[in-house]
Amino acid sequence: MTPRVHETTVGVVGGGQLGRMLGEAASPLGLELLVSDPTPDAPAAPSVSDQVVGAFDDEATIRTLAERADYLTFEIELADPAALERVHEETGTPVHPHPETLRLIQDKLVQKRALADAGIPVPAFRPVDSLAELNAALAEFGYPAMLKARQGGYDGRGNVLIESPEDVEDAFAAIAGPALLEEFVPYDRELAVMACQGDDEQDTFPVTETIHEEEILRTTVSPARADDRVRERAREVATDVLDVLSGRGVFGVELFEADGKILFNEVAPRPHNSGHWTIEGCYTSQFEQHLRAVVGLPLGSTERRAPTASKNLLGDVDTRQPAQLSGMPAALQTDRLSMHWYGKHEVYPLRKMGHVTLVGDNGADPTTLLSEIQTAAELLTFRSTE
Ligand code: ADP
Repeated sequence: MTPRVHETTVGVVGGGQLGRMLGEAASPLGLELLVSDPTPDAPAAPSVSDQVVGAFDDEATIRTLAERADYLTFEIELADPAALERVHEETGTPVHPHPETLRLIQDKLVQKRALADAGIPVPAFRPVDSLAELNAALAEFGYPAMLKARQGGYDGRGNVLIESPEDVEDAFAAIAGPALLEEFVPYDRELAVMACQGDDEQDTFPVTETIHEEEILRTTVSPARADDRVRERAREVATDVLDVLSGRGVFGVELFEADGKILFNEVAPRPHNSGHWTIEGCYTSQFEQHLRAVVGLPLGSTERRAPTASKNLLGDVDTRQPAQLSGMPAALQTDRLSMHWYGKHEVYPLRKMGHVTLVGDNGADPTTLLSEIQTAAELLTFRSTE
């Protein structure tokens, strides 16, 4: 029997900013959230009912979550699929997305192979376990090419761009483990689509343009500045990706637009930084949508209210230090600017500390929105302003 919503608890492995924003979305739905995180007083703690302190892959911690929750989900790929499977078998608590989806996504080679086999367009790639294999793949693809660790990479960590033969040995040593070499995609734009798998329905949020620097997502805008045909194709590819994965939830599908064509880069089995704008920009946020999907409620409308940009607040400091943000009163004078603070006590270089979102008028120009949000975000800093 499906428990009544106000008696339903969702256990979330991971209590970072995604857990925090899931907590903010859970309360109006009448859902209780319980997170696990190794750091006491994790970013999610203030917005959820309780936190279990334990490692993301610790089976006893996951079991505690499952025993206290009606559904389990995860907001970090470091959750352990085998532990999730065993705990599911022992306790009967459903896990969404399914742990096998997490396993498939955790290994970039397995993920790319599965999606390529399903007919999804991906950049050419080769498995690389030795220097000889790396050289053979480079002879095929030429320079530059992207070497990626199969496991554990995020925010560009685990990726090395190989620009010339002189880089090869150092790149291989830096990865220090099983990898794949990918042809370099000379993309015109990076795009992302949040794809939603409900009980017996699928949907996609409007396409987001994602702007990275040094492989870290900085800024997003929706609508993406791509033509209608490209945007339509991006949503189509994201829907095809859903069909390869199992279990319910929201999935962040990262894409390249190159020469009018869409190529798949990677998928995250959870709400994603490229979908944060949906909190203000859409009728249903990606966080609400994920919770609806996990507990089997109908999906909400993915329609965009108005053109929307968002910008990450990254640690702009040189060293790890207590986080003191200045510039809020000035930045918040910007009409329609929303602040999202993640509650992290310490800042270090490029750490994701929060984000701001700016909703435009209907018909607002994405390029103008991007420059407006840039102006507002420049007022915010962790550097001493004395
Ligand atoms: P992570 O898992 O760390 O987010 P990704 O594989 O998504 O790493 O790569 C991070 C960024 O690196 C991408 O958003 C893109 O800017 C760049 N990148 C990744 N793969 C390629 C590629 N094959 N060609 C060109 N740029 C790439």
